[in-house]
Amino acid sequence: MLREVSLSMSMECVALADAAGRVLAEEIRADRDYPPFARSARDGFAVRSGETPGTLRVVGEVRAGEAAGVSVGSGEAVEIMTGAPVPQGADAVVMIEHVIRKEMCDGEFVKIDRTLRSNENISRQGEEAHSGRALLEPGKLLGYAEISLLAMVGHTEVQVFRRPRVAIVTTGDELVEAHEQPGPVQIRNSNAASLAVQVRRAGGLPEVLPIARDNYESTSALIARGLDADVLLLSGGVSAGKYDIVEKTLADAGAEFFFDRVLIQPGQPVVFGCVKRHVTKFFFGLPGNPVSTMVTFEVFARAAIEKMQGIEDPPLRMLRARLTREFRHKPGLTRFLPAMLSVDGATVEAAASRGSGDVAALARANAFLVAAPDQETWAAGEDIRVLLK
Ligand code: AMP
Ligand code: MG
Repeated sequence: MLREVSLSMSMECVALADAAGRVLAEEIRADRDYPPFARSARDGFAVRSGETPGTLRVVGEVRAGEAAGVSVGSGEAVEIMTGAPVPQGADAVVMIEHVIRKEMCDGEFVKIDRTLRSNENISRQGEEAHSGRALLEPGKLLGYAEISLLAMVGHTEVQVFRRPRVAIVTTGDELVEAHEQPGPVQIRNSNAASLAVQVRRAGGLPEVLPIARDNYESTSALIARGLDADVLLLSGGVSAGKYDIVEKTLADAGAEFFFDRVLIQPGQPVVFGCVKRHVTKFFFGLPGNPVSTMVTFEVFARAAIEKMQGIEDPPLRMLRARLTREFRHKPGLTRFLPAMLSVDGATVEAAASRGSGDVAALARANAFLVAAPDQETWAAGEDIRVLLK
């Protein structure tokens, strides 16, 4: 599926504070050696390793942020703080916890009982990265560690890929907006709310359009509006019912379909395709049942939106955990079921749920069990795949 999607976003420059969750569009290189100077990794004394064990005269101190004013000669030590530059002549630092200080009438001494290796407790200049070395490549998703690295090399602004605008069109004659009071046989539109969150989490900018009614005029008008965005997401109207007209309306808008059915449950009717105008616009028609909408977004649409922003191989947030109870399903389809994963992620069990309309059950759960299509039963203690919620 992801073969159909490629990076299609242009670049923009953002402040570092706004770069979290964005995808890097430029190469980042070391602006100097890291560490920039040989520095002490400990509070202690800078010494000559060849003179340990031994008793050495303390001839000065060097603090973090201060150039070393003294050097270490034979028989000498300099008190040093973590992060301070190692003085000339020294090739090791002994930890403060490993010396005995001695005040003598002719000065201060330290007694060292252990043998130090050369470079012990010293971070050598350039040992993490030499000046000019590539540290981050385009396509990297920026999180706190990457932002830390950007700050370290002095990037206060960074080139990232633009976030795709994702139009959300929910369909259904039975829907009212969440702020409205539904009539006796109406329901509130919850899919627009969940999809907006999921789009944002995938790095996209959600644009929720009005509800499309189950007639051709309304649906085609909203599909046309939705195709102005970079991606169009639809919910509902893609199954076999008499008024499920999304696919036909898309076809009339010139759509090419990559697939219109997938072997998963919930969510068998999932439509994925594109409309080629001057630029290619992708769309997903997701089933309307709220749990199906959420699952199919996670399994299909999320990766596509991430890939458009330059993430090369968007990962599914999957892991394996041990079942605490026996589990069985009807084989043939890959099933996603609300589940409870233990705090340490080691064990999992299926949660009670009344099916793909049961939003409350999914809200209580923290993950999905992923039951493979070629297996019917899993014994307690057996491993099973889990998709994080
Ligand atoms: P559909 O895929 O249109 O046949 O809808 C399947 C089920 O999901 C029906 O019970 C719909 O009422 C419900 N549904 C469809 N769209 C939404 C929505 N936006 N919010 C909540 N439930 C919906
Ligand atoms: Mg419907």
